[in-house]
Amino acid sequence: MQRARVTVRGGVQGVGFRPHAWRLAGELALGGWVSNTAQGVLIEVEGRAEAIDAFVHALEARRPPSARIESLEVAPVAPRGEREFAIRPSARADSLSAAILPDLATCPECLREILDPRDRRYRYPFTNCTHCGPRYSVVEALPYDRERTTMRAFAMCPACAAEYADPAERRFHAQPNACPACGPVLALWDADGRVLAERHDALLGSAQALRDGRIVALKGLGGFHLLVDARNAQAVERLRQRKGRAEKPFALMFPDLVAVRAQCEVSSQEAALLASAQAPIVLLRRLPGTAPGAPVPQAAPGSPELGAMLPYTPLHHLLMRELGFAVVATSGNRSEEPIATDEREVLERLRGVADLFLVHDRPIARPVEDSVARVVLGREMLLRRGRGYAPYPLALPSPGRDGALLAVGAHMKSTVSLAAAGQVVTSSHLGDLDAPEGRDAHEAAARDLAALYEAAPAAMACDLHPDYASTRYAERSGLPLVRVQHHVAHVAACMAENGLTGEVLGVAWDGSGYGPDGTVWGGEFLLLDGARARRVAHLRTFRLPGGERAVREPRRAALGALYEALGEDAFDEAGAASGLNFSPGEMRVLSSMLVSGTHAPFTSSAGRLFDAVAALAGVRQVASYEGQAAIELEWSIGEEHAADLYPIDIVEPEAASAPLVLDWVPMLGSIVRALRQGVPCGSVATAFHRALAEAIAALAVRIRVRRVALSGGCFQNRHLLEWSVERLRTGGFEPFWHRLVPPNDGGVSVGQAAWAAAARAEG
Ligand SMILES: [Zn+2]
Ligand SMILES: [Zn+2]
Ligand SMILES: [Zn+2]
Repeated sequence: MQRARVTVRGGVQGVGFRPHAWRLAGELALGGWVSNTAQGVLIEVEGRAEAIDAFVHALEARRPPSARIESLEVAPVAPRGEREFAIRPSARADSLSAAILPDLATCPECLREILDPRDRRYRYPFTNCTHCGPRYSVVEALPYDRERTTMRAFAMCPACAAEYADPAERRFHAQPNACPACGPVLALWDADGRVLAERHDALLGSAQALRDGRIVALKGLGGFHLLVDARNAQAVERLRQRKGRAEKPFALMFPDLVAVRAQCEVSSQEAALLASAQAPIVLLRRLPGTAPGAPVPQAAPGSPELGAMLPYTPLHHLLMRELGFAVVATSGNRSEEPIATDEREVLERLRGVADLFLVHDRPIARPVEDSVARVVLGREMLLRRGRGYAPYPLALPSPGRDGALLAVGAHMKSTVSLAAAGQVVTSSHLGDLDAPEGRDAHEAAARDLAALYEAAPAAMACDLHPDYASTRYAERSGLPLVRVQHHVAHVAACMAENGLTGEVLGVAWDGSGYGPDGTVWGGEFLLLDGARARRVAHLRTFRLPGGERAVREPRRAALGALYEALGEDAFDEAGAASGLNFSPGEMRVLSSMLVSGTHAPFTSSAGRLFDAVAALAGVRQVASYEGQAAIELEWSIGEEHAADLYPIDIVEPEAASAPLVLDWVPMLGSIVRALRQGVPCGSVATAFHRALAEAIAALAVRIRVRRVALSGGCFQNRHLLEWSVERLRTGGFEPFWHRLVPPNDGGVSVGQAAWAAAARAEG
């Protein structure tokens, strides 16, 4: 007889791992026990040596579908003559790692049950098990037990209670376990909250309303969605008007993968991501032409891509099967507000937006938005991190000091992160902080994250920007503050998720961030090492006439860039050659801003340089959402090759300690000439992206640091990322980029947490 102790770390709690071990031990006639611990699961098994080997092998090889094993250690211990195998009750989890898992999409077994007329869960929209269903969106406190979830109001019926108690069942300790006899029920409400139908009739009523072109607000897993028939132009247009969202593409939910493939190119990797337990919205390339059932152009105006997702709860599965066509499925809010989660509140917030409300009585503990991903360079990259991913922790390369640290993020695409015990957990995507609703949601998320993990933060990390609502919130806390420069945070986030320590050249390109020198940064090259950061280079600065207004008006960035290149000749150039379409009055105001330098701050922003080129190329003069001009410039790139390479010079500073400058003025001259000669926009855009990738590689050669981290919103751009990685690799460098932490400002709180933890560790 032998005995072994097996320590399994990772996401192995709440996924049926203990019953998995119990079943294996039974098959192999092993004694011992299994228990949840702070880091994961601890098992002791006793029996014949071959049986123990087989147990350890099968533990990993046949693990439950949603378990994530990070490590598995086996150590011999003294035998005790134990013949029975027991599941011990949970010890209280005190690390971030094992405690709370993300919400996971409906598993194949549960799907089969809800479609089987003989099953007691036939058509039951809240079916779940230990392999799938809500977790983060229902847990109210730790440890994760039913009485501390939003399911506590529902007493399990005898059949559900028996499943819950039986280790041989898939629903052993499935905290949100429910059935039609005991669980939450659906209801269909009119705009005044009057009940029109209940249970399956509510679902059928919603389906009919959608077929009729009406807008339905659906209470899903982590909040409300607004749904409308994606094939109905008038209906989609009405949703745009009511939601206040002019042009930004809507996400779409398709009935199944076959329906997605009818409209989009889907690689095997993209298909796997769509159908994964995380089930994010995946950005896919549209097929040319219009197939039957195609979403109308208003769903994603001008876009060669569609944001597609598959049903991920039983409610979505049942509704989409009933419909059989794609629907727009966008967050239930007015533009840029946080997502609504409560059905009584939603009647007010979505009054005049939704015609009908498909609701249920399972409360949502916190908003969890759909995640958005794309497959690039052979793997997924999250552009928005929420459902399926939050709050799965990330291990920090530098463990930091004792005591938790709360990082409050940036201003756009905000998130909050909590660092403790060498790990960081991050909230779901929260949204922008311009409106009071956004600021309230952000503060609530910060309080929630600390409370949920029972961590009293010893310090806060925030942006350097004094006017961000997140910074002000951190200041009001009265805790010691670590202020992290915006682009340092971007690079630190990329380093953290790639496990990098030591010297790294960070390329942080985005729209804007507060620079310690009083200018607006955004095209930065930063050398990071431990808790030290140095700006080693940046894009040549130019003036933005009207400052922040230029974000909404890319043509202002174009005028500013032309002025930097040509001086006052820019005003003739802007009037003559390009389609910037300023009125004489506007031109007078903007030119005087540029000449006098008033209301025209300097910026080194790469995002604004993209805006300038997009406006000059006639792609976009005035934007209706953040990043629109740069995104549409990226869309204009087809198969064409860049004819010539636009020059970007690296200029030595006058003071030896000052950063190098990447001078794009020669490139701008080439672009203006090419456009004047009638070179197609797509070719110009290709050459522009190529030139930037070339410049990044050339700068890396000058700095001579092998590892290069690419971060900031500009690296959401597929071509910029792919070509930069390609050029860095051929130059002998090792590029790193994002995967599960978004490159945009959604990743800033992660970087702040990582950086502040390292800074505190170094004292
Ligand atoms: Zn399931
Ligand atoms: Zn039941
Ligand atoms: Zn940023």
